[in-house]
Amino acid sequence: VQEDIASPKKTSELLKRHGLVLKKSLGQNFLVDPNILHKIVAAAELDKTKGALEIGPGIGALTQQLAKEAGKVAAIEIDQRLLPLLKETLGGYPHATVIHGDVLKVALKPLFEEQFQGFEQVSVVANLPYYITTPIIMKLLEEKLPLENIVVMIQKEVAERMSAKPGGKEYGSLSIAVQYYCDPEIVTIVPHTVFVPQPNVDSAVIKLKVRRRPAVEVEDEAFFFDVVQASFVQRRKTIYNNLAARYFTKETKSQLEAILREAGIEPSRRGETLSMQEYARLSGILSQAVG
Ligand code: SAM
Repeated sequence: VQEDIASPKKTSELLKRHGLVLKKSLGQNFLVDPNILHKIVAAAELDKTKGALEIGPGIGALTQQLAKEAGKVAAIEIDQRLLPLLKETLGGYPHATVIHGDVLKVALKPLFEEQFQGFEQVSVVANLPYYITTPIIMKLLEEKLPLENIVVMIQKEVAERMSAKPGGKEYGSLSIAVQYYCDPEIVTIVPHTVFVPQPNVDSAVIKLKVRRRPAVEVEDEAFFFDVVQASFVQRRKTIYNNLAARYFTKETKSQLEAILREAGIEPSRRGETLSMQEYARLSGILSQAVG
């Protein structure tokens, strides 16, 4: 088993020896603090009966810790230059597999079947590349993978939006999309000093416990998310104005007030005050009129 590499000194030694210069364009900010790594791994509640999927192993600092806890680790890395280095740092962990690819292009269902056969519970655990945080998380959720939880380091602002409750300025379509599938919890806020190189933004570790069933029942998921998205197009406008702009014409919009009232929603409210339950009710009634 290789020694742990999560320190500024070992990280720069390894990079130097392999002649690697980090690429900002790939979001390569590597974690060099063992305490944060342990917090991330602990939040995922792994054991040898469980699997872990990592996105962007980098030089393997988190991968090593995951391999100590989980029965199987699969890690998807886009940067081919890192593969020989990962071979070295993961040498002592035969149950950790590195897959070269772009997580946004890889077909994850077959990958799961191949890598996690016999594992009933799989977590995604990662220090995500920040330039694609939201697309990665939405891909994981929308593909309805058999996940127990997702524990990821992301920008603090994005973590706050994902876990926001109705009423505040952080609450929006991302909050609803994430909370439809998951129960979110911010594990810890992370200072940028734990990365090499240090990113310009603050970070947070967020844990998304994947729900067995979505938080609300809707007949047409695509339409539900369309209504949510439409309601936040202009945040300062009322729900009435946003929905009128998306689904009605001058001639037809007289119906909208009655629809909102039937859903129990005052037309003068703003999208940011509606709960997910209210959006579910509204989209059900609205789809009969315009869907
Ligand atoms: N896990 C390491 C750590 O914690 O130190 C590295 C994390 S670093 C923030 C993000 C990693 O994701 C980098 O290794 C980067 O090359 C990789 N990456 C960037 N875009 C990717 C993509 N589309 N698919 C897979 N990996 C990607």
